[in-house]
Amino acid sequence: MGVSIAYHLAAAGAGRVLLVERESGLGLGSTGRCAGGFRHQFSSEVNVRLSIESVRMLKSFSSDHGLPLDLHADGYLFLCREAATWQAYRGGAAMQRGLGVDVWLLSAPEAGELVPGLAVEAALGEP
Ligand SMILES: Cc1cc2nc3c(=O)[nH]c(=O)nc-3n(C[C@H](O)[C@H](O)[C@H](O)COP(=O)(O)OP(=O)(O)OC[C@H]3O[C@@H](n4cnc5c(N)ncnc54)[C@H](O)[C@@H]3O)c2cc1C
Repeated sequence: MGVSIAYHLAAAGAGRVLLVERESGLGLGSTGRCAGGFRHQFSSEVNVRLSIESVRMLKSFSSDHGLPLDLHADGYLFLCREAATWQAYRGGAAMQRGLGVDVWLLSAPEAGELVPGLAVEAALGEP
């Protein structure tokens, strides 16, 4: 977050930007440990909107900066086993679609076809 804010301030012409870091280098906190996955499926609208902007930035990163980025947009699959969770995810999917995100609701067999070998017996889904 700090590095991103510093970058955007500098790019917007804020002049000299000072980034204060307590460790010996950057990326030694959560960012250096994360798996690098990105998705749109969040439950709050603000997070979905942030992810839309973030994915846009990720996709144009190489051309914008002339740097390689090993980017794969393979999609995310969530399995719901509790009725309440399933209802919450359905509501989330409707909100995400309203913001232009391509989200599908699958039946358990359809999820199994999408990911062969996945144990979907206990999963709930669209009938
Ligand atoms: C194992 C793991 C896997 C994850 N996988 C994913 C994933 O796949 N996808 C995803 O989107 N998110 C993932 N996350 C979450 C993601 O990594 C974090 O949400 C994100 O990196 C947080 O960024 P940040 O800049 O807020 O924090 P950080 O990257 O931790 O940066 C904060 C910086 O502030 C510095 N700092 C703190 N206090 C001070 C101080 N007082 N003075 C000076 N400097 C200070 C720290 O040293 C650190 O460098 C994962 C997290 C973990 C731990």
